[in-house]
Amino acid sequence: MPARTGAQYLQGLKDRSAEVWLGNERVRDVTSHPALRRGARSVAHLYDMQHESALRDEMTYVSPTTGNRVGLSFITPRTQEELQRRTRMMLHWARFSGGMLGRSPDYLNVSLMASAAAAEFYAQNHPRHAENVRNYYTYVRENDLCLTHTLVNPQANRALTATGQPSAEVAARIVKETDKGMVIRGARILATLGPLSDEIAVFPSTVLKAAADTAAFAFAFAIPSNTPGLKYICRESFDYGRSPSEHPLGSRFEEMDAIVIFDDVLVPWERVFLKADPALCNIAYAETNAVVHMMHQVVCKNIAKAEFILGVACLIVDALGATEFPHVHEKIAECISNLELMKACLRAGEADAAIDRWGVMCPHRPPLDVARNIFPKMYPRMVEILQLLSSSGMMMIPPQSALESPIAEDIDQYLTVANMQARDRVKLFRLAWDIACSAFGGRQILYERFFFGDPVRMSSALYGIYPKEPLMERVREFLRREE
Ligand SMILES: Cc1cc2nc3c(=O)[nH]c(=O)nc-3n(C[C@H](O)[C@H](O)[C@H](O)COP(=O)(O)OP(=O)(O)OC[C@H]3O[C@@H](n4cnc5c(N)ncnc54)[C@H](O)[C@@H]3O)c2cc1C
Repeated sequence: MPARTGAQYLQGLKDRSAEVWLGNERVRDVTSHPALRRGARSVAHLYDMQHESALRDEMTYVSPTTGNRVGLSFITPRTQEELQRRTRMMLHWARFSGGMLGRSPDYLNVSLMASAAAAEFYAQNHPRHAENVRNYYTYVRENDLCLTHTLVNPQANRALTATGQPSAEVAARIVKETDKGMVIRGARILATLGPLSDEIAVFPSTVLKAAADTAAFAFAFAIPSNTPGLKYICRESFDYGRSPSEHPLGSRFEEMDAIVIFDDVLVPWERVFLKADPALCNIAYAETNAVVHMMHQVVCKNIAKAEFILGVACLIVDALGATEFPHVHEKIAECISNLELMKACLRAGEADAAIDRWGVMCPHRPPLDVARNIFPKMYPRMVEILQLLSSSGMMMIPPQSALESPIAEDIDQYLTVANMQARDRVKLFRLAWDIACSAFGGRQILYERFFFGDPVRMSSALYGIYPKEPLMERVREFLRREE
């Protein structure tokens, strides 16, 4: 099947309805439920972009197996030019939402591509697993499926987790093996886009103690979201059913995060990629370079998000007539620096990309790793800057009903600012509020802080991969100098 349209994506969610819980309600159709349908429609728009005549060549490429045009985020890049094509494609998707749909499907498509290219890594666990991961990648690419994923065991007792030992009562684990597959029981967090996905990739969390008693918790597999026994428990939706002008982000980009429960879920053997090998699980992301390809998608999202925040900040400053204050320049310059740093990291990652041991053109990791380590600090600060530039403006945002009421005349008179009429001002500051004050905005900050993992451990990973020895040697040599 060629790259899907939005309508085909939505139909797929309806046809293969997963077990989704929102409060006390079992959601039967996520595409029509008021709390989820507009988020689903935005993801559908991403799929439609693959068919826009002006974008088609930048969004798709020719499948090596069928000759169909398939989504470009599935490409196995062999050259720097192909990597840059993937960048352009991912930027198109990221810019559609100003980076607010962090979990556009490219995030997992690039990861799956890397896993399949590194199939021999999985063969170390069992020869069949290499074939499984290759077949699965081809299946997802040719059907243009939308994936969510879960890597982490729920917070139960982190003192225990710190020793590399998951909670035996809570964490998802293998409880049985049959001739058909392995049976999983327990919970995982936190499947962003889970209720809006066709399939879930359950990949290893990378902090298990390599010992016999953690083997049951060590696995990688992927199954359809509607597999019997699999349940998504949603948080409260931040789409409150308000109009896009009132709630510009929450009404469009609710990608939903869900706890995942495995109630004796049967995973067929052909969908198992790793089993009962904590040591291999712990290195899977790094060894296959899947994590680097994900960083590539993430830095594109960071660029789109930094561009969006900078644009909002500049519009606010213009509207209020605050363009001449030096402290305003300082704050805007900080946002510009953040954006340019992200762009520089992307360029460096592309420019120093090289063919890896799996034959894939892999971005250079250090600059992308730097980007994923500093953006969680940059983003909350940029949100703070929006608050500092807007101050009470973010509260002077009467709802649409007020603009259609007898009080509208007062609003038109008193909410007009230096360079913007009242109604346009309210619309702009509603957007700033949805970035910086609403529940949707708060979740975006939390997302940036944690979605790629615990920031402390991300720093340790950067410390671990960075070639420090040449620098240390240079200093040793300096210390040895006598003149
Ligand atoms: C909005 C959002 C969306 C997400 N989406 C996804 C997703 O789609 N898929 C997915 O798999 N995950 C997702 N995550 C989960 C994310 O991977 C985790 O939040 C992250 O790995 C941190 O784990 P945790 O939340 O369990 O926090 P914890 O690990 O419990 O950490 C809590 C605090 O304790 C500290 N801590 C805990 N253990 C240690 C230790 N051993 N050493 C030092 N400090 C420690 C941490 O530094 C932190 O300050 C998402 C998270 C958020 C917030």
